[in-house]
Amino acid sequence: MDERGFAAVVGHNDIIEHLQNATKSGKISHAYLFTGEPGSGKKLMATLFATLLQCEKGRANPCMKCASCKKALSQNHPDIIMITHEKQNVITVSEIREQLVNTVDIKPYESRYKIYIVNEAEKMNPQAQNALLKTIEEPPAYAIIMLLASNPDALLSTILSRCVRLNLKTVSDKDVREYLINEMHLPDYEAEVAAAFAQGNIGRAQEAASGDTFANLAHRTVQIIKDIDKLQIYEIVEVVKEISAEKNNIDDFLDILLLWFRDVLLYKATRETDNLVFRRELSEIRREASVCSYEGLQEIIDSIEKAKTRLHANVNFDLTLELLFLTIAENM
Ligand SMILES: [Zn+2]
Repeated sequence: MDERGFAAVVGHNDIIEHLQNATKSGKISHAYLFTGEPGSGKKLMATLFATLLQCEKGRANPCMKCASCKKALSQNHPDIIMITHEKQNVITVSEIREQLVNTVDIKPYESRYKIYIVNEAEKMNPQAQNALLKTIEEPPAYAIIMLLASNPDALLSTILSRCVRLNLKTVSDKDVREYLINEMHLPDYEAEVAAAFAQGNIGRAQEAASGDTFANLAHRTVQIIKDIDKLQIYEIVEVVKEISAEKNNIDDFLDILLLWFRDVLLYKATRETDNLVFRRELSEIRREASVCSYEGLQEIIDSIEKAKTRLHANVNFDLTLELLFLTIAENM
């Protein structure tokens, strides 16, 4: 969150409008559930809403100038409480009791509301959820609880039924691209590739745009595809292993590969270049589009998807990649 408040949020206009209207009319629920994949902006949205609710000026946007907003900006607001947890994969019942249930009856120190934000709420174990449920069922008038979850199915239905649910969908590629150009200062072409890679997720776009890891990865991936007929499969697997060890994530590599072959397929079908992610590599895309058949390209795309699934199921890394590159080489 920064001084621009809601203006800095990319997309999600429907949710922002909902939160602004609720604040304006004073019809605030005691429990909110923000859902959306990791990186979709749940925490930012909840923090902005909390700041707006506590703002001394109380307009459609937090003023960011009053004492309350300043404290919220510096993450130092005594009445906006972020629940923390010690173990990475679980929020325990004692954490929920200590930080929330046992303190909720103490009136807000200086603001209208007392707001609790539970990030990664799906990590609450059943005991923790049950402890929280009692508070959600009978909260003090000033209490507001915001749960953030990428996997809301892990929450008890009794909790779900009491929350106003706001789902942060993916934002358009165009919005992501503009964000990358204007805010992250990426050159046009790189923004194009990173936006396609981000698939509407600003967190993922930020990750791709910070440092040169992503641009590097994209460049090397394209290089591997170009060399695929010159190298032995085991040599390629070695290179990919090296690359993915750097980021400890083979998914990014496979996603870029997927974007590439979708480009080849798109070009083969339409001969249009405007919608290509990798349009800077047009000569290579053109070459591959002419040597690959439609069936071959589809087979390659399917095999990339298959490799992703296999790796998630912990099937042997080398074997999976060898199989994938064999399929690619055969069809090119
Ligand atoms: Zn303010």
